[in-house]
Parts: sequence; structure tokens; C-alpha cells
Amino acid sequence: QTPVITIDGPTASGKGTVAALVAARLGFHLLDSGALYRLAALASLRYDVAPDAADALVALVDDLHITFREGLAQLDGVDVSDDIRAEAIGNRASAIAVHQPVRAALVARQRAFRKQPGLVADGRDMGTVIFPDAALKVFLTASVEARAERRYKQLIQKGFSANMDDLLRDLRERDARDTNRAAAPLKPAADAKLLDTSALSIDEAVDQVVQWYGA
Ligand code: C5P
Repeated sequence: QTPVITIDGPTASGKGTVAALVAARLGFHLLDSGALYRLAALASLRYDVAPDAADALVALVDDLHITFREGLAQLDGVDVSDDIRAEAIGNRASAIAVHQPVRAALVARQRAFRKQPGLVADGRDMGTVIFPDAALKVFLTASVEARAERRYKQLIQKGFSANMDDLLRDLRERDARDTNRAAAPLKPAADAKLLDTSALSIDEAVDQVVQWYGA
């Protein structure tokens, strides 16, 4: 079986950055599953499908024309890597991710990323639902303040405007929704290793994951 390392955790816990660096270090493929939910959210805006219309969302997801190439995400052949990073799209992604049929419609697309020599997959349910047989499961945590600060810097760097109070409120709301939903709630897999990144540098977090993997 092709080895998989799963890195799950709440919004802005650093999982995307850590996952990308671990994948680069090991020469593994990378799945940013949040980007899939964000692409579906962006498509739902473009095609005017309401975030609570589960059946219409499933049809939309089944027809979704998306590609990932060299870190770029394309929707209908157009690069939308920056568009999907907007806070409004993240919130909409979290709203459509509550529907179990929508999640089910995305399973095969996610598992298709599992290719030799290996995969690093980041998200909310990589270790619990999508890759339950992963060789290593990591669950990242960080204080809500540390995460808000990271998200703030990310957004400013991408040219979006940002406000700390709004970000803290949004993060708490998104945490609550991701944790309390019935479909694949955010929680560590029983066999996950917990890593609190509040006081760790990115390099330290990457080193720890690679060391756990034993590469
Ligand atoms: O990780 P990211 O912030 O890009 O994900 C956006 C939203 O997509 C999350 O808030 C979450 O609700 C949803 N998501 C999910 N399962 C995943 C990845 C993302 O439900 N595996």
C-alpha cells in the first residue's frame, strides 16, 4: 500500500504549511483537502447554488472541473488559487461541508491523490474518514489567538484586508461548526499523535512529523 501521512486540525493550525513542507521533504504528493471544499464553495457562488441546497451541491460537486498543478488550483481551466483563500470562501466551504452527501461526493477525488511514493494529506477528517489506514496520523492544535495571528498575516500577505476581532470571531464560529457537525466532526483519530504548534516554529513542527514518520 502507498504510505499516507494525515495532518488534521482546526482552521489556521498551520496544517497546510506543515503538510506541504513534509511532502517536499519526503518527495511525497500533497492533498490539500480544504482546497477541494473551497473550490466547491467558489463554484457554488459562481453557479448560484445555495449552501444549504445539499442535492444541488452534490450535482455541482460531481460535475466540478478542477485541476491542481504545481500548487495552483484551477476551476473550469482558470487559476483560482488566490480566490479560494478569501475568508468568505472559507466560511462558505465550512457551511457546505456540513452535508454528508457533499462529503461523500468528494471521497473518491481525495483518495485518487494516493500515489507512489506516498501522500501527505491535510484537512479535518483525513485520519478519521478518508485514510483510516494511514501510516502516521497527526492532529495539530494551536491556541485560537496564535491561529488568528497566523491567518491575519496570511490574508495581508495575499492582499486581502483583515481585522483581528473579526478573525477571532470567525475562527471560533468555524471551530464550533467543524467540531459540532454530525458529518465527520473535527476530532483526532484514536491513533493520532497530537502536536500543539502554538509555541513551535514551522521547521520544528515539520521536524517532529518527519521524525515520527521515521524517515
Ligand atoms: O482547511 P480549510 O480552511 O481550507 O478548509 C475550509 C473548510 O472546509 C473548513 O472550515 C471545513 O469546514 C471544510 N473541510 C472539511 N473537511 C476537510 C477539509 C476542509 O470539512 N477535510
